[in-house]
Amino acid sequence: MNVADIENHVKNLLPQVGVNKLRELVRLVYEIAKREHLPVQEILPSAKTFESAKQQLLKRRYPHNFKSAAKNQFYLPKLELDHAQQADLTLRPFSPKTIYIETSVKDSELAARAKNAFPLAEVKETDGKTQVGSVHFSQRTDTLFIHQEKYDFLKPCPCSCGSAGCGYNLVNLGFGCRFECEYCFLQQYQNLHAVLLPANIDEFLQKLEQGTYRKGPFDRPRIGSGEFTDSLVFDDLTQYSQKIVPFFRTRPQWQFEFKTKSTNIDGLLQAGGCENVVVSWSVNSDKITNEAEHFTPDLTHRLAAACEAAKAGYRLGFHFDPVIIYEGYQADYARTVQQMADTLPADKIAWISVGTLRFSRELKKQIETRFVNNFILDGEFLLDFDGKMRYSPAQRLEVYRFLVPLLRRSFPEAVVYLCMEDPDIAKQF
Ligand code: SF4
Repeated sequence: MNVADIENHVKNLLPQVGVNKLRELVRLVYEIAKREHLPVQEILPSAKTFESAKQQLLKRRYPHNFKSAAKNQFYLPKLELDHAQQADLTLRPFSPKTIYIETSVKDSELAARAKNAFPLAEVKETDGKTQVGSVHFSQRTDTLFIHQEKYDFLKPCPCSCGSAGCGYNLVNLGFGCRFECEYCFLQQYQNLHAVLLPANIDEFLQKLEQGTYRKGPFDRPRIGSGEFTDSLVFDDLTQYSQKIVPFFRTRPQWQFEFKTKSTNIDGLLQAGGCENVVVSWSVNSDKITNEAEHFTPDLTHRLAAACEAAKAGYRLGFHFDPVIIYEGYQADYARTVQQMADTLPADKIAWISVGTLRFSRELKKQIETRFVNNFILDGEFLLDFDGKMRYSPAQRLEVYRFLVPLLRRSFPEAVVYLCMEDPDIAKQF
């Protein structure tokens, strides 16, 4: 769909509307045409004024929430589809063209492994981040930056402003990912378009030793990587697991969590199992995994890797996050739960989180321009308590009332909790 065509269509219908009103109508016509798979010319409000046209379009775009949502919860930004920014969904191996190595870690094990793993890459030494990175986010995997992390070692999980927290503690072991999940917040958050991997893992472990940690509703503090990257996707290269697992094995008062969608678990298996290391997989319905989590292993492969990790002596975690509402979603998610129940050793599952899709306003625009054919934005997202876009409370409650009891019945020993949710909703579960 072309933005100019939609603008012309609306101008033909209502030639008097000014710029801001035009912007809102264009946005609504676009979203309806996309969701209903119709040419824009067929989105024809019979109304002859801006107000009545807008009301008709809002009602059609937000059938569940049109009556109950406040006017300022509908977010109708300018439609800007920049085709140059579209994601490249051609399947390819991770093979950076350039490896930047910060001078202070040029002799590190990680720098040596990277040079060895990618012999065709151009290697450049650098003394800072400013010279590094590709123009577009979509080209981030062209550049690998091996650096020394100096400041951002660990921090409490920022959660989302005003949400019910779970007391998580984050370790910043890497930035950037080679998967292409359509909802990934890095598309909007990452301004250095490269894969960044710190070489000073020993320093991270020293900092961990000195940290004080929250434990939230869990028996021990949980510390985890996987916020700004997938915890294991590069583990064959970084071999962080080889150092993290032995470190935590001697510190049973803490738990470490690797969060992943990958099956890159050889390093973990070599490191040997560890009761207080939890390996967690993000799981979803097959439709979401296959159509919106590009380049990731499917559910069957993720669960097979989980079984291997459990057999090696790790405990498991799972994150139903983000749950995405679409027609028939409950049957699809129930199938995922059933597949997990049929496959996994239930007594090894430490926790399962559930969270519905949420995103910042800026991310919405990134998703629609990078994945023009996405369906994940077709739901009814409203501006919510924390300034993010979410399903309405009623729709979120519908998800949690269906999924949380199902998970608790299927995995009675696991802690099932909500992630980044409104405290009023979270306390109901
Ligand atoms: S696996 Fe995680 S970090 Fe990687 S693209 Fe998907 S959401 Fe983003």
